[in-house]
Amino acid sequence: MRTLDQSSAHYVESQVFLAGGVASSLRSAMKPVPLFAAEGSGPRLQDADGHEYIDYLLGYGPLLLGHGHQAIVSGIHEALKRGTTFGLQHIGEIELARRLTELLPCAEQVAISGSGTEAVMLALRLARAHTGKRKIVRFHGHYHGWADSIFTSFPSSDMRQSDSVVSTDLILPGTGGQSQLALEDIILLPWNDPEALEVTLRQNHGEIAAIISEPVMCNSGCILPKPGYLERMRELTEELDIVMILDEVITGFRLGLGGAHGKFGLKPDLVTIGKALGGGIAISAVVGRKDIMDLIASGTVSHLGTLNGNCIATAAALATISELSKDGGAVYSRLEQTASQLVEGIRGLFAKNGIAGIINQAGAVFHMMFTRELKVDDFASFNQRDVARYAEFAAYLLHEGILVRPNGLWYVSTAHGLREVDETLAAVDRVFQKLQGGTSV
Ligand code: PMP
Repeated sequence: MRTLDQSSAHYVESQVFLAGGVASSLRSAMKPVPLFAAEGSGPRLQDADGHEYIDYLLGYGPLLLGHGHQAIVSGIHEALKRGTTFGLQHIGEIELARRLTELLPCAEQVAISGSGTEAVMLALRLARAHTGKRKIVRFHGHYHGWADSIFTSFPSSDMRQSDSVVSTDLILPGTGGQSQLALEDIILLPWNDPEALEVTLRQNHGEIAAIISEPVMCNSGCILPKPGYLERMRELTEELDIVMILDEVITGFRLGLGGAHGKFGLKPDLVTIGKALGGGIAISAVVGRKDIMDLIASGTVSHLGTLNGNCIATAAALATISELSKDGGAVYSRLEQTASQLVEGIRGLFAKNGIAGIINQAGAVFHMMFTRELKVDDFASFNQRDVARYAEFAAYLLHEGILVRPNGLWYVSTAHGLREVDETLAAVDRVFQKLQGGTSV
């Protein structure tokens, strides 16, 4: 067992000065203690006690190129020499927007913000202004940030709240202090159910401004869309004058240079991206149809933010994109191969150790679950997983030098390779044996 004395001591101190002891509520869920990082390099990081970990948390997704990638570090250094932010125009913004329009099939224009939450807020606002309608359709188990108007039904087991929101009628605020009124315009539907979608849209299209959906339900089981489901969503939204927003904050650049919509051959009206775009620096964007984005040009929709498009963020994003697009995006096949080796390996270890589990994978992100279900392909089957057992597994893995999120979602980076896969599988095997033996952490 690793001693985590420094992390434990820092956590005691941080709870005195930092509200909740952490800077983002999810982080307090890590057991036995929220780890304090000292430094990261490639696929690995070191904690405050000097222990090394193979990192599959990867900053909750942004570190698609791993920690401290040279191209990002030098891009930022170069930018820093000239300044951090001006509150003026600079050509990095144009370069970034141009690259995004070249790479993302639905992107005719781009609006740059600071976080996924902000990008979603802007996309919803654009949709309402464009259609003159109010209601937003969203889905159980998806997460679109923590803004009042959209934060509900988030089932993450690494939040302190329980996975209680499964009713289709009840729309509960995602947090204390959130106005119930802010959710009045939300229609909550089960995902991957084309009939429910069609009935709701046909009955309520006069009021519905937008549908927002993750293209893959990454936040709850990494569930792929059923064949034809997103295409049907596209047809219906086009027919009924509803803005289709794909929230690609996780999948953007992670699933490919054209995002999930590029991979699936879809053309949504608006797409939000974040996380991997900035390689660890805060940046996000809404991209999409020019006639909708023109609402910003006309002054109808406000898009604000002191640090929007700052030089460090655009430099990090440009470096990330240039690295990922080398040789026509060849890096993606290696990335997916690494992730698949890991997934196949863990599946093999489920079988070897007689453990009932499922992994759903979408390229370089996957969700691992302990469950007796034969498949996890909707929110109901996702909710059958053994949350406590997985949290215990994650805590064991931490002591084996493998860092994973306590809710089951694993991110893989281009810096991970066969060596990391082999070490990880050996650790998972040891932990499975402990779990089967009933040893406690
Ligand atoms: N949308 C999706 C699909 C996400 O997964 C997240 C964050 N996990 C967000 C939006 C919010 O992004 P941020 O945390 O940068 O505000």
